[in-house]
Amino acid sequence: MLRDAVRSLAEAKIAPYAAAVDEEARFPQEALAALLGGDLHAVHVPEEYGGAGADALATVIVIEEVARVCASSSLIPAVNKLGSLPVILSGSEALKKKYMTPLAKGEGMFSYCLSEPDAGSDAAGMKTRAVRDGDTYVLNGVKRWITNAGESEYYTVMAVTDPAKRSKGISAFVVEKSDEGVSFGAPEKKLGIKGSPTREVYLDDVRIPADRMIGEEGTGFATAMQTLDHTRITIAAQALGIAQGALDYAKGYVRERKQFGKPIADFQGVQFMLADMAMKIEAARQLTYAAAAKSERGDADLTFQGAAAKCFASDVAMEVTTDAVQLLGGYGYTRDYPVERMMRDAKITQIYEGTNQVQRIVMARNLP
Ligand SMILES: Cc1cc2nc3c(=O)[nH]c(=O)nc-3n(C[C@H](O)[C@H](O)[C@H](O)COP(=O)(O)OP(=O)(O)OC[C@H]3O[C@@H](n4cnc5c(N)ncnc54)[C@H](O)[C@@H]3O)c2cc1C
Repeated sequence: MLRDAVRSLAEAKIAPYAAAVDEEARFPQEALAALLGGDLHAVHVPEEYGGAGADALATVIVIEEVARVCASSSLIPAVNKLGSLPVILSGSEALKKKYMTPLAKGEGMFSYCLSEPDAGSDAAGMKTRAVRDGDTYVLNGVKRWITNAGESEYYTVMAVTDPAKRSKGISAFVVEKSDEGVSFGAPEKKLGIKGSPTREVYLDDVRIPADRMIGEEGTGFATAMQTLDHTRITIAAQALGIAQGALDYAKGYVRERKQFGKPIADFQGVQFMLADMAMKIEAARQLTYAAAAKSERGDADLTFQGAAAKCFASDVAMEVTTDAVQLLGGYGYTRDYPVERMMRDAKITQIYEGTNQVQRIVMARNLP
């Protein structure tokens, strides 16, 4: 029922704008309005804070169905979970109440600020500093590649509180857009997910109350990594949705397009490609849903499974969208058809929330 509901909302209110959002590289305002209207913008927020209380699998299905029509728009529910999960996992009760309530109501989105210009795969090498001063912390630094920066009201920021301790000297904080000293860079000009704004976040002497720290001092990096164990599954869901959208489009196209006097779907060479695409998508789906169940239960092998789901599903998305372009021939290579957008959008799923090389490092360290 959830899938049906999200699919019809996505097809009616998000899909019609997907091409324009990509072409104009603009924030998908129509999608945000539709998701808010359907209470689908941050479904993971627990009911006690006024949220929909969706479990990890339901959240995955929402993201998958939105990504099937518009990958950029699927980053609204996905990044709201990514940005706010550190608070849900490690924040005080007061912090949860203060920030999860407006997130659930749709009064403000959440972003996640881990990466920096010189700290990507090696995130623990970050330089952003938070220095205690009485009842406050003062933050200085630059966060890079921040999804929905400028659009979000709230930012989970990882910063160094004790440089001598490397990853154990990193703490997490909630920073608000309106805090003095917060500003944003120009939107990055990207290959894909062009409707999802990616900007730098500048922190210049941003003074925040000490109770905005998420968990204890020095636990921020652990919280950031624990968060990714859960949210990599949402990237797998996004990849899955993009791949399914490409297969669905290609499936329809090959039945219509005629060459040599018959639909190209009648050629076995085309049928085999479609069969492989569907097979890979289904394998990615099973892995992703199993990982979501593990996320919900907090199983011991979640770290391996989340990395495996993200890595596998994103590789599948890249292969399937590339094949979808192939199945449309020259038409697939133009912006008159959606599959080239899907191919460009799929690429990011192999890069963010840890590149697929990093996922393989994570898997190798946590072999079942
Ligand atoms: C559109 C977009 C949105 C993003 N959104 C966010 C966000 O909201 N919040 C956030 O914090 N970050 C975000 N990111 C950042 C993203 O997570 C990083 O780009 C990613 O982790 C890679 O870091 P890097 O770009 O510095 O690449 P690098 O770490 O410099 O990697 C370059 C290459 O080297 C490889 N490599 C690096 N180390 C190793 C190793 N040990 N072994 C093998 N290969 C290795 C990588 O796999 C990659 O192929 C976003 C990025 C993009 C592009």
